[in-house]
Amino acid sequence: MGQRAFLRVDGADGLVGSEVPYLELGDAAAGPTVSIFAGVHGCEYTSMLALRRFLAGLDEAALRGRLLAVPILNLAAFHARTPFVVPHDGKNLNRCFPGTPDGSFSERLAHAAFDQVVRRADAHLDLHAGDLVEALEPFTIYDASAVEEPSRAMAHAYGLGYTVRAEHGASPIGGTSSTAAAQAGIPALTAEVGGCGLVEEAAVERHLDGLRRTLAHLGVLPASFPPVPPPVELGHWAWLRSAGAGWWTPHLRAGDHAAAGALVGTVEALDGGTVEALDGGTVEEILAPEDGVALFVTTSPAVEAGGLVMGLASR
Ligand SMILES: [Zn+2]
Repeated sequence: MGQRAFLRVDGADGLVGSEVPYLELGDAAAGPTVSIFAGVHGCEYTSMLALRRFLAGLDEAALRGRLLAVPILNLAAFHARTPFVVPHDGKNLNRCFPGTPDGSFSERLAHAAFDQVVRRADAHLDLHAGDLVEALEPFTIYDASAVEEPSRAMAHAYGLGYTVRAEHGASPIGGTSSTAAAQAGIPALTAEVGGCGLVEEAAVERHLDGLRRTLAHLGVLPASFPPVPPPVELGHWAWLRSAGAGWWTPHLRAGDHAAAGALVGTVEALDGGTVEALDGGTVEEILAPEDGVALFVTTSPAVEAGGLVMGLASR
């Protein structure tokens, strides 16, 4: 199937994950080139399995264009079962794009992946899930950019219930692969389905369906699909953090709505102590700052001061 190639991270010889296999399939002369990442985070298994399954079932001769597919980009985190970050330097790879050739390992890996794969593409898809301690409601993200309209159309084609339009500067995150692609003029999305380190069949199939739909929309995959209802379009994130460290109990589940001011969870002091940030209090109440839908919720009770507990998105 296709041709196996390797991403190489300069200056990282011998480190786990410094050579990353990927596949080149199809013919660039026959249509657009699409880059596809999975496993940017090491324990987001539904995204990796969806891409593996897609590639295993693909009839390469039918492609009208070329795919550059990286099924597990962050191999060091995958092998070590490390959520969120790359074990070599403790950085979140999805805050490092487009990367630098002379930075730390994550920055070099981001640079290699962006330079050797994404820059050759006409469109870019980055498949994620909630990580080990993260439940989520399926959604896609695309950026406000000069290529916003084709990116938004790709997000709609993916067929999930929500899309979030991320505004540069106002968004709590930067340096994602889809943001860097959009800023380089390459239409892009991030798709999130599944979570908590589980390999749930329904989530894998939902990712796979979205991937196929989007590739068909781009004209690379000759297939047609029954239409899906358009997503609810959201444009503003509130990422909620605990002030203190302690025991986190969410009062919402992923996909639930919260009204402005609603109690969405608590952080309790451990072992009869107080929550340091509370001036003697023992329970920190976390309130929704505005109406929104909980697109992701931290499931682990363990939370540190300033720890991310929930992502609420609103119009
Ligand atoms: Zn992720």
